[in-house]
Amino acid sequence: MMIQSQQWCDLHCHTTCSDGSDTPEQLVVLAKEAGLAAVAVTDHDTVDGLERAESAAQAAGIEMVPGVELSVLHPHGNMHLLGYYVDPGCADFKRVIAKVQDARSARNPKIVEKLRGLGMDVSMEELEEMAGGGQIGRPHIARALVAKGYVKSVYEAFDRYLKKDGPAYVPKSILSPADAIGAVTGCGGVAVLAHPFSLGHRTREELEGWIAEWKEMGLQGVECYYSEHDQDFTSFLLSLCRRLGLAATGGSDYHGRAKPHIALGRGRGNLKVPYSCVEAIKELRG
Ligand code: AMP
Ligand code: ZN
Ligand code: FE
Ligand code: FE
Repeated sequence: MMIQSQQWCDLHCHTTCSDGSDTPEQLVVLAKEAGLAAVAVTDHDTVDGLERAESAAQAAGIEMVPGVELSVLHPHGNMHLLGYYVDPGCADFKRVIAKVQDARSARNPKIVEKLRGLGMDVSMEELEEMAGGGQIGRPHIARALVAKGYVKSVYEAFDRYLKKDGPAYVPKSILSPADAIGAVTGCGGVAVLAHPFSLGHRTREELEGWIAEWKEMGLQGVECYYSEHDQDFTSFLLSLCRRLGLAATGGSDYHGRAKPHIALGRGRGNLKVPYSCVEAIKELRG
């Protein structure tokens, strides 16, 4: 029997269809070059890149895992839900995505309005150009503020204006955890909690309580391996998954040039996501 060397994957990546800087085709080729066995496309609130990524993956000889990252209402930090293998033809899912995209489109002019009220001259036209036809998100707004010299960096733009509860912040999520989880699992997909560090938990007991509640709603996995999770937090999440019977997954949240400190498949340098994570979510497909 041939001994297979360990294979790696990256189950959380963005493209130009949302706020990443690589096209779906480029992402897939870069993943192949990085030696990954599989790469997921998980753009914010859109599945527009998936067909292109799949064609490119077939040509490049790498496995593409279709995904999406939904923003979810949560009273504390930021809650994002990853949905893998959602049936692209599912009418219920298309309705949810359309609703979420409407909410996003309604939000951007409000942010622009707030920034103008703060004395910064930015327009929707400039943002549309920044986004190049993809979903407009706060990173595009941040880049516009940098380009116009109002701030020195994307980080400063978020810190001074765009972060949650910042002076130019406008909430966007319209999906409750139950709605978001239901939208994914109701259309054959696998619902995975993204980057738990961002939820704003005060204690690990609180975090575990939330995840247990979401599991009751149909949550199937947790992104344990993640660029911003240290080893201790990752180990905690892996043991939590074992305790609660959830799949452990992982990804870098690669955005290309839009987050230059995060490398595809490697995160901040030492991220490693075993290919067994792909097998685990495949088994959970509806
Ligand atoms: P949006 O979907 O428009 O709410 O924007 C979310 C995106 O903004 C995600 O890709 C985040 O990684 C990015 N983001 C959120 N907070 C920050 C921050 N403080 N600095 C840089 N990027 C951020
Ligand atoms: Zn993003
Ligand atoms: Fe996210
Ligand atoms: Fe992401």
